[in-house]
Amino acid sequence: MTVVTRFAPSPTWYLHIWSLRTVLYNYLYSKKNNGKFMLRVEDTDQSRLVEGSVENLLLVLASVWLIPDEGPNNPGDKGPYFQSERLDIYNEHMKTLLEKDKAYHCFCSSERLDELRAEQKDLWLPTRYDGNCRFMEAFEVQKKLDEGCSHTIRLKVPKNKKVSFQDMIRGKIEVDTKDIDDQVLMKSDGFPTYHFAVIVDDHLMEVSHVIRGEEWVPSTPKHVLIYEAFEWEQPIFAHLPLLLGKSKKKLSKREWDVSVESFLEKWYLPEAILNYISLLGWNPKTTEEIFSMNELIQRFELSDVHKSGAVFEEERLEWFNTKYMSSMDTDTLYNKLMTYLRRYDNTFKEFLESQDESYVKTILSELKTRLRRLSEFRELTDFFFENPTDTDTELLINPKMKIPDLATVRKWLELTKVILEKQKSNFESIDQIKEVFIAEIKAAEMKNGQVLWPVRVALSMKKFSPGALELLYILWREKSIERISKVLKDIS
Ligand code: GLU
Repeated sequence: MTVVTRFAPSPTWYLHIWSLRTVLYNYLYSKKNNGKFMLRVEDTDQSRLVEGSVENLLLVLASVWLIPDEGPNNPGDKGPYFQSERLDIYNEHMKTLLEKDKAYHCFCSSERLDELRAEQKDLWLPTRYDGNCRFMEAFEVQKKLDEGCSHTIRLKVPKNKKVSFQDMIRGKIEVDTKDIDDQVLMKSDGFPTYHFAVIVDDHLMEVSHVIRGEEWVPSTPKHVLIYEAFEWEQPIFAHLPLLLGKSKKKLSKREWDVSVESFLEKWYLPEAILNYISLLGWNPKTTEEIFSMNELIQRFELSDVHKSGAVFEEERLEWFNTKYMSSMDTDTLYNKLMTYLRRYDNTFKEFLESQDESYVKTILSELKTRLRRLSEFRELTDFFFENPTDTDTELLINPKMKIPDLATVRKWLELTKVILEKQKSNFESIDQIKEVFIAEIKAAEMKNGQVLWPVRVALSMKKFSPGALELLYILWREKSIERISKVLKDIS
């Protein structure tokens, strides 16, 4: 069997992180099986469309390299890929179902349906259509159609029958048709409902595996009935577990914070995002956690996806991001930084370009093991580019490190200045700085922390920054002497 998977979004909002996981699993499964991954836009509910969301979606998918093999941007022979452009196809297929007596016209007004629903609710009954039009005589139907009466078309759900399907994650699911409504397949505006269009499209596009969120499990028996009505073979289903927020509640749909774009805008690397979300629901059966795309393709199995919801935590995503950044060579990371800046912060990009490139790269290379996101680069590095203006005396004093007063601060900064002045040229490596400083501190019978704390603060004027030795290495000898001298002047 040729494996064909698909992602079928309704273009109503941003692409959320859990939808990206659906895309990823569809993508991985098709690649693993040398199959095809398709994109189809389900835009039949015109009232819910959000302008620009399809363009956005395509952009986001391209940004994380999950490019469909076939879809609006790269059509094959299964198009069109927008459901709104496939109305003729649905009408044709609707005719077939009516001819097969598997569907019927329903002329009930919305007022009648509202009343019916209200009555059923009052009686604590499940709300469903009562079949009022199901047995209407053909001549009567024709008369109403000739009169132009508004109508929908419903599926003639067979009575007393079991409908079942095999789910690759959840096993066999079986439902009695008495629990299934005669669902609307064609709305009064002539547009198909999701349930009808999705079946016609998945069939015509030869989709072999329907991999989607578990919220679609209750709809699947209805879908199976439509497959049966057409006498088509049903695809294989796999319903993915929910993604939960930290509070174990379902992630809210409308939150910008859970959109993929917001994570890209915070400068998480696509590879870190994909690696992290691949593990939300899928068990790779190893303690390893870092997987390249190729490794994911090789290892991914739908049968290793579990049923229970997975919790999405941004802190974990940060951890993955730091891992990816720290293992990347600095030139590559620098290029990524520049690409991101071009998109999100061009002013800062131009500023960095005006600086010595090797200086920026040294900063990046020292910082990459502690950066959680590239977006932190700007706020964490300002002091590398501009000398701190104010001297924070409170920060320089640190009783815990045995630096009780400014006199002590002065002593150690003076010692550092002497060490730096003795050193004729720039340091070649952090190791070399370490060697020189440890020897000098030992000779002065001091403790490392005592000397290094005021040095770190004098060079950065920050509560948190890379350590003193790293700063000395990045800033180089002259700039370090300049900053230490200024602090010494300010506290004298
Ligand atoms: N259009 C549906 C959605 O936006 C697709 C569901 C499916 O994959 O069948 O979720």
